[in-house]
Amino acid sequence: MSEMSDARTGARAPELPDGTTRYGVTRDELQALLVDQPRYRVDQVWSGLYSHLAEPEALTNLPKALRADLDRLLPVALDAVTEQTSDGGETVKWLWGLHDGARIETVLMHYDERSTVCISSQAGCAMGCTFCATGQAGFDRQLTTGEIVEQVVRAARRARDDHRRLSNVVFMGMGEPLANYEPSWRAVERIHADVGLSARHLTISTVGVVPGIRRLAAEALPVNLAVSLHAADDALRDELVPLNRRYPLSALMDACAGYLQAKGRRLSFEWALIDGVNDRDRDADLLIERSRSLPLPAHVNLIPLNPTPGYPVRGTPMRRVRAFRDRLRAGGVNATLRQTRGTEIDAACGQLAAGQPVTIDRRS
Ligand code: SAH
Ligand code: SF4
Repeated sequence: MSEMSDARTGARAPELPDGTTRYGVTRDELQALLVDQPRYRVDQVWSGLYSHLAEPEALTNLPKALRADLDRLLPVALDAVTEQTSDGGETVKWLWGLHDGARIETVLMHYDERSTVCISSQAGCAMGCTFCATGQAGFDRQLTTGEIVEQVVRAARRARDDHRRLSNVVFMGMGEPLANYEPSWRAVERIHADVGLSARHLTISTVGVVPGIRRLAAEALPVNLAVSLHAADDALRDELVPLNRRYPLSALMDACAGYLQAKGRRLSFEWALIDGVNDRDRDADLLIERSRSLPLPAHVNLIPLNPTPGYPVRGTPMRRVRAFRDRLRAGGVNATLRQTRGTEIDAACGQLAAGQPVTIDRRS
């Protein structure tokens, strides 16, 4: 307890690296911090934080002074700037302020069968995809494991308050998870082992960072992989997704095949349908070819492009979206339309840009 008491007078706990947060601290670090406590304390704190999703002050099985010390030594990483709801309360978007003023967003979506949280892996994004609000705003900084995991915990708490259970996590918020590999992967491990979600309920979405996909294929946990394809020929993809110039489709498809071989899991292609750009019959036919060239045909998730301030092209009209889907299906490719959520609070795919002015604030 001596080190902890020092902290109460303002000293930093020497057992913790700088910037350690409540959901970033490792079990070993916690053990070192609680070295003067009975051994069972580590389990009590850990299960309080993860199984009960509790704040230290709510852990009434701990002595009061210890709760206060934990609260101070393990600060929360996310400070809610706004919380907005839409879709009759079924979608919640948070804008979080981080300790250094950086901002990120998280979106929780309740469906009949599941509750999914869409989390950010970076503040901003350096990939520069032209149609994406995060890409338009540019890169701010990498997120830490604690900042990533805490988004899941905050959403899980909210789901519990809504009498739901958080069931799925998708890395489809701000940022490119495979360009922040280690913190993102450690977060996956923590979400799996401690928050308790199985790997098949976790999805990493990438724009096509080939070395990252190869690394992912060598990991033990078989998470779902979503690849944001959007174009099946290099000329168009170079335009929409600048990273394609570095990792062209041949390299990307090779890495996807490797992932499938390693994991035996279905892979999905994300395709934002852009009016007159990638929604023609020819685009569908090329996509069918790409999808079927894999050891297991990729599943295609279609979504009409959501509007963003920096990209003046419209999303494909619904009639054409359905025709595109039907053409894929007729070509032997499993395709589904993604339900759009939260467009009115700029919470939909590709709309997350924490620097943008907030238009509606319907805090409940
Ligand atoms: N950087 C990763 C994950 C975050 S983006 C990636 O790109 O995969 C999450 C998803 O939103 C991606 O599939 C991305 O292509 C899609 N997206 C980006 N802008 C969009 C927009 N304006 N409308 C619809 N989807 C968009
Ligand atoms: Fe980054 Fe993904 Fe947006 Fe591209 S689509 S800019 S990779 S967040």
